[in-house]
Amino acid sequence: MKIKTLVLGLMANCCYIISDEDNNAILIDPAWSIKDIETYLKTENLIPKAVFFTHGHFDHVKRADAIIKKFKIPAYIEEGDAKVSEISANLLETYKGDKKFKIGKLNIEILHTPGHSEGSVCIKIGDNLFTGDTLFKTVCGRTDLPGSDPKKMQKSLKRLSQLPPKTKIFTGHEYNGYESTIEEELKTNHFLKMAITQ
Ligand SMILES: [Zn+2]
Repeated sequence: MKIKTLVLGLMANCCYIISDEDNNAILIDPAWSIKDIETYLKTENLIPKAVFFTHGHFDHVKRADAIIKKFKIPAYIEEGDAKVSEISANLLETYKGDKKFKIGKLNIEILHTPGHSEGSVCIKIGDNLFTGDTLFKTVCGRTDLPGSDPKKMQKSLKRLSQLPPKTKIFTGHEYNGYESTIEEELKTNHFLKMAITQ
């Protein structure tokens, strides 16, 4: 399994392309620069199979409709954020809460982690967790936006804190880096620490 990070757009959004040994690939939050995403897929000879959104905020979905249409692949979003994304409903496949997918050889486990938005999810593939705007290095995502809920965020963070410490995290933006581990965040992330005591 291979993980490629592309940091794209004005808000340093992280698009992740995860591929298996047969070159099947999934795209997490493909946004902003479709050209960069396509170039990587072509260079690596990857076959895009599906899109997964960590949530529906515009900076995670901007121009994603072009990718979905071009490759004619399913795009999965938790139903709480389908409308928020403003992507045409016929291009989206919604699901509710936790969910499992198998794409090629990739076992994809969706953990519903509301708080930043109602439909926010973290995407677990093996020991890797793609956290969107739920968990960042040393902080968590904003909870003062329409659709945010600080109480739900606390619960979601608590849930993440119970994952194996070695779990690698890959965040939705490059804010002082985009990679960490649950173990590291348990030491350095005030929000995660607070959530555990609740
Ligand atoms: Zn967001």
